[in-house]
Amino acid sequence: MQPKEAAPTYNVLAPGPVNLHPQVQETLAWPMIHHRTPEFDAVLSRVLKGLRKVFATSQPCYVLTSTGSGGMEALLVNILSPGEKVVVVDSGKFGERWSEMAGAYGAQVIPIKVPWGQAVDAAAVAAILKQQPASVGGEAATGGVRAVLCQACETSTGVVHPIQELGRLISSYPDTLFLVDGITALGAFPLPMDEWHIDGLVGGSQKAFMLPTGLSLISFSAKAWRVIPQAKCPRYYFDIRLEHQANQKGETFFSSNVTLIRALDCVLRMFEDTGLEQLYQEIARRARFTREFTLQMGFSLYAQPPANSLTALRVPAGIDSQKFRLRLEEKHHITVMGGQDQAKGKIIRIGHMGHITTEQMEVLMLKMIDVLKEFNPQLATGIDQDQFARAMRGFWRHD
Ligand SMILES: *Cc1c(COP(=O)(O)O)cnc(C)c1O
Repeated sequence: MQPKEAAPTYNVLAPGPVNLHPQVQETLAWPMIHHRTPEFDAVLSRVLKGLRKVFATSQPCYVLTSTGSGGMEALLVNILSPGEKVVVVDSGKFGERWSEMAGAYGAQVIPIKVPWGQAVDAAAVAAILKQQPASVGGEAATGGVRAVLCQACETSTGVVHPIQELGRLISSYPDTLFLVDGITALGAFPLPMDEWHIDGLVGGSQKAFMLPTGLSLISFSAKAWRVIPQAKCPRYYFDIRLEHQANQKGETFFSSNVTLIRALDCVLRMFEDTGLEQLYQEIARRARFTREFTLQMGFSLYAQPPANSLTALRVPAGIDSQKFRLRLEEKHHITVMGGQDQAKGKIIRIGHMGHITTEQMEVLMLKMIDVLKEFNPQLATGIDQDQFARAMRGFWRHD
């Protein structure tokens, strides 16, 4: 066997995947155990219970072996029948994805196109719901809207949507469900499922849950559970009824993702030790720090209103954001993301989820100044690096 290569050190400040906590890394390296063992049963039971705290729900939560998009699909196929109307908030890449997915399953998609960088206006959703006949009813499943689909945070733009307001609105329609993609929200900022009348909610392992990619986490409301038995979309792998029955017996229906579920157990314990409120505060603080110091460098906020899970920034005029992020990665081994589609070349996106130290945040800022200088020395002329570094240290003391 060849000698082992040293692990590369990268600082991943993308809005997923994220830096892993050392304890999580250790857990990931534990020897395999079979998923039908008392040891694993105890882990699964703890995880399913712990997730309900993050979701803030009295309903059961489920762990699926899939990326986040699989969880989005699971929410959809378990409540949808072909031909039904689905209103989709499309404010970026992930809204677009849910739209396409709903279309692929035969839904009549009513998109609400929101300009990139902006949040949906709840009044626009209210207007559409009002136009549709009140009841879904009957075999033909025509009439009212079966579901409204929205991201809590649209990761491609960094926007946070008014989920609480939308939940209140949609809850007054007895046959309409509210599905929320909380993949960059759950675990990053409060998104209480029950209190905000969310009927289907999905989180993803490689975002705020600080794990590698590979798990999606979902839950359904009691209102959704009344629809699930009647939904006529074809479903097998994501048939939540199978998973629910298996979970009742303390198992998962398919082979359990032992490695990631053990790591999730570790993360949920850390959440518990830190306290969710404190965790959200820390992430919010990283967001405030990033905004304060990047604005001083000549970047400007792209999202209105911005989510705490990431900060999307317009780069100073004359700079290609794609080249900027690439340089940051090549020269300093720091990963931030660029923009997609219409935002390509124009924005960078800095993630605030995962294991991030204040030192890593400060280094990011200094290296951004360094790259900025390389691209256009004029842009960084006003910045005194020592003073900047002092101001950053001061931030943590005073914020
Ligand atoms: C990352 C992300 C997804 C997709 O997750 P995958 O794990 O890549 O399938 C979906 N929605 C949002 C908002 C995301 O940030």
